[in-house]
Amino acid sequence: MKIYGVFGDPIEHSLSPAMHNAAFRALDLVACYNAFQVTKERLRSAIMGADSMGFGGLNLTIPLKEKALEIITPDKLAEAIGAINTVSFDRQIRGYNTDGIGAVMALEESGIRVKDSRVLLIGAGGAARAIGYTLANQGAEISIVNRNSKRASELASRIGANGYGFDELESLVKQADIVINATSVGMRDGDPRLFQRNVLRSSQTVFDVVYNRKTELLRDTIAARATAIDGVMMLVYQGAKALEIWTGLKAPVKVMEKAIRDSLRAKKEQSR
Ligand code: NAP
Repeated sequence: MKIYGVFGDPIEHSLSPAMHNAAFRALDLVACYNAFQVTKERLRSAIMGADSMGFGGLNLTIPLKEKALEIITPDKLAEAIGAINTVSFDRQIRGYNTDGIGAVMALEESGIRVKDSRVLLIGAGGAARAIGYTLANQGAEISIVNRNSKRASELASRIGANGYGFDELESLVKQADIVINATSVGMRDGDPRLFQRNVLRSSQTVFDVVYNRKTELLRDTIAARATAIDGVMMLVYQGAKALEIWTGLKAPVKVMEKAIRDSLRAKKEQSR
C-alpha cells in the first residue's frame, strides 16, 4: 500500500483526501491519501519521515508552501513561483508547483483565452504568485492589485506586470477582460465584497479561486451576466497534475471533480 498525503495547518477541512482516494480507486491503485497536521517548525522532520516511510508523494498547503523551498530541491517552475505544493520521492525529494497550471486549465476548460487578455489579479499571496507567474508565461497582460500594495508591486516586478493598491481596484476591474480573485476574501459567509457589483460587464470573465462556497463575487458576476468560474476546477486540475507527477498515469479528472463536489455538498448539508 503506497501512502500519500497533504501536510498543512490547519488541515481538517481539506478536500484532497476525498479527491485523491477516489482517483486511486478509479485507477485500481493500492494506495491511500490522508491529511496530516504539520506545523512549519515540524515540516523538515515530517518530510524526512514521509521519505523514510516510503510515501508515494505529498501535497503541501497553507502555511507550508514557501517554507518547503528551504528543505526540498524545487523544479524550475516551483523555484520561479517561490512555493512548492507537490512533493515526489523518487530517487530524490523534489518539489513542484501545480497551482498555476491548475488555474490555467480551469480557465481554458471554460473556453477562456489567456494569451493577450487583460487580466486583473487580485491578491499577492501564494495562490496569486503561482497564477500570476503562469499567466504571464502564457502571454497575458497582467495588473496586480493587493490590499498591501507593496506586496502587489513586488509580485508585479517579478513577473513583468503593474502593481496597485486597493484604491485603484474598481477602475482596474472596469479595464480587465478577466478578473481573478486570488485572495481569501469570500471563504467565509459574511466576508465583505471586494468591489461594487455594478462595475462588472457581461463581456468579462470572473474567476474566483475560492472553492468552499459560492461567493458574493460569483453571485455578482452571474447577476451581471458575465462568465463565472469557481475554484473547484483549479483544485481538481492542480491535484490531477500532482497525481500524474507521482504515478505517471493520466488522472481521472471527472472522478476527482465528482469527489470534490460530493464532499462540498455533504459539508453544506451538515452545516444546515
Ligand atoms: P495567502 O498566501 O495567505 O494570501 C492571502 C491573500 O489574500 C493576500 O493577497 C492577502 O492580502 C489577501 N487578503 C486576505 N484577507 C484579505 C482582506 N480581508 N481583504 C483583502 N485582501 C485580503 O493565501 P493563498 O494561499 O494565496 O490562498 C488564497 C486563496 O486561494 C484561499 O482562499 C485559498 O483557499 C485559495 N486557493 C485555492 C486553490 C484552488 O485550487 N482553488 C489553490 C490555492 C489556494 P495582503 O497581502 O494584503 O495580506
